[in-house]
Amino acid sequence: MATNGAANGVANGVAHGSGRLTGKNAVITGAAGGIGLETSILFAREGASVLMADISAPALEKAKAKVLTLVPSAKRVETVVCDVSKEAQVQAMVEHVDAWGGLDVIFNNAGIMHARDDDAVNTPEEIWDLTMDINVKGVWYGCKHAVASLRRHGKKKGSIINTASVVALVGSATPQLAYTASKGAVLALSRELAIVHAREGFRVNSLCPAPLNTPLLQDWLGDDAAKRHRREVHFPSGRFGEAVEQAQAVLFLASDESSFVNGHDMVVDGGMTKAYVTPE
Ligand code: NAD
Repeated sequence: MATNGAANGVANGVAHGSGRLTGKNAVITGAAGGIGLETSILFAREGASVLMADISAPALEKAKAKVLTLVPSAKRVETVVCDVSKEAQVQAMVEHVDAWGGLDVIFNNAGIMHARDDDAVNTPEEIWDLTMDINVKGVWYGCKHAVASLRRHGKKKGSIINTASVVALVGSATPQLAYTASKGAVLALSRELAIVHAREGFRVNSLCPAPLNTPLLQDWLGDDAAKRHRREVHFPSGRFGEAVEQAQAVLFLASDESSFVNGHDMVVDGGMTKAYVTPE
């Protein structure tokens, strides 16, 4: 079927949004990577002011340039270098947005899957600790300072979205124990925060992506066809997900369209976690 550029919100290669996040200030961590960058693009396109945060300064500048190229009409896009495992840096990141009127949305998305993460016997303790510091403490710090900011600015609503993973829901025979445990913690802490803060109007949801075409996984798989097949075969569609397919779900959770969605594990996996036997 032919695609209609205008209907898709794309004209002359530049995509236009419909203002789904107009008036919102959003902070995105891991913004230089796959999901974070695609989310930054969608958020900017939909009218949000976006603070892109990442541990890598050069990657961040490249990512910001991409957002501004694709969304020349962006209201405001700024960057901040932040290691989410360091609370003082997370606090400074959130406070950066005070001058804009305080945050309305935070996407705690930065995470690592370390090459030396392994099974119960072989995962080095330092890799366990590093993974927990970034994937769990980083999300906690983001939630903590987001709640403080929402209260400080007297906001009556706010949306916090935390990136977990399908490995928090289904077991994997390809071990990455620290990563799996860290994502289970993200799901559990998000659920509790959703309930604790519901009457303040603050929603907390988590995103559970399936394996994706982003550097996090693809660099790790490299040219190893067998390793790749080991994962692809479990997708009913026969393919990995794309980062932008996650970003679309994050956009929904960030917008007021999801005003009654709270404490939800948003699984974006092409049906992978519902599959028993997949098509040949
Ligand atoms: P990615 O590697 O493309 O991007 C991650 C970004 O986080 C990078 O830009 C990196 O520089 C940044 N980062 C790493 N450590 C950081 C830190 N301490 N502080 C701040 N930033 C830091 O990965 P992605 O695929 O976009 O992953 C984003 C999130 O999605 C992660 O939490 C990941 O665990 C999760 N996830 C990914 C997949 C997948 O297959 N790619 C599947 C499920 C869940």
